[in-house]
Amino acid sequence: MKHFLLSSALAMIVGATASAAAADSKIDELNLYSYRQPFLIQPLMDAFTEDTGTTVNIVYAKKGMLERIKAEGRNSPADLVLTVDIGRLNDMVEAGVLAETSSKLLEEQIPAHLRDPHGRWYGLTQRSRVIFVSSERIPANETFTYESLADPKYKGRICTRSGKHVYNVSLIASMVAHHGEARTREWLEGVRANLARKPQGNDRAQAKAIYEGQCDIGIGNTYYYGKMATNNKKPEQKQWAKAIRVVFPNQSDRGAHMNISGAGVLKSSKNKSAAVKLIEFLASPKAQEIYAQQNFEYPVVKGVPADPVTVDLGTFKADTISLAEVAEHRAAASKLVDVVAFDGGPAS
Ligand code: FE
Repeated sequence: MKHFLLSSALAMIVGATASAAAADSKIDELNLYSYRQPFLIQPLMDAFTEDTGTTVNIVYAKKGMLERIKAEGRNSPADLVLTVDIGRLNDMVEAGVLAETSSKLLEEQIPAHLRDPHGRWYGLTQRSRVIFVSSERIPANETFTYESLADPKYKGRICTRSGKHVYNVSLIASMVAHHGEARTREWLEGVRANLARKPQGNDRAQAKAIYEGQCDIGIGNTYYYGKMATNNKKPEQKQWAKAIRVVFPNQSDRGAHMNISGAGVLKSSKNKSAAVKLIEFLASPKAQEIYAQQNFEYPVVKGVPADPVTVDLGTFKADTISLAEVAEHRAAASKLVDVVAFDGGPAS
């Protein structure tokens, strides 16, 4: 009986939402919480406003966005969130703050493995987590797999940022998805044994370390190559980019690990259908081109070109495992990083 009452209460809420949605076409303001930076997001929102007349108020955050959304609860003014990495999107799913949405357009435009089967998040750009290798000290024809990073021949030659960083946790989660926990643990121990130094710095710092000769092999996201290679404000980064070659691993099997930046509509939103419209706009060919090119990422929509610097990295085979499935292994991956004391660096 209790269950029935709850169900009918829910039905009323759903009914209310549906009629609110019908009135959405009149809503001319949306509130966006963004982990992505202004230089990237503002041009897109300006284009959206120009197209639709809907103003987008943006709160930019570097951290603490989920805590803020949770603290605001149902009264949160936010309609949608933009963030990077399946890990952060999954944290929002687990916190129960994202609404299930459906959009025929998004389902057609965005490949199924790059969006949540329940419509709680949609991938909008892609990046590959690749191997940065020394263009001087690693032969041009040497191929890599993630698995090969544990090969003893690379002892003392590998640099990476913390194993606990969201990008690495997702990569390790993809290893768990493909190989299981036991084999991933062995692999991670092997990679740790090959480290040249304690995990530290960001992705660009690994290219810098290769430039400086501290190591020969690093792990990094593809867009950092473009950001370094074209950095007029910090021209020393152009040297770091020159010192490395981007290698897409696992080209003869499953392909290189992919991650996304993406968006989700919040349960607290009073403007859900307008929020979905904004995500649909971000998946339009016009927005996809701006979006991907501003930050040297790969579009999720087929046929939209990446920036020429990114295109120059070459075509490659991408792992098409569902990111929703990868996300299920994030907790196990994070635990393995601790279990093997990865961030302690190479064993002495
Ligand atoms: Fe990044």
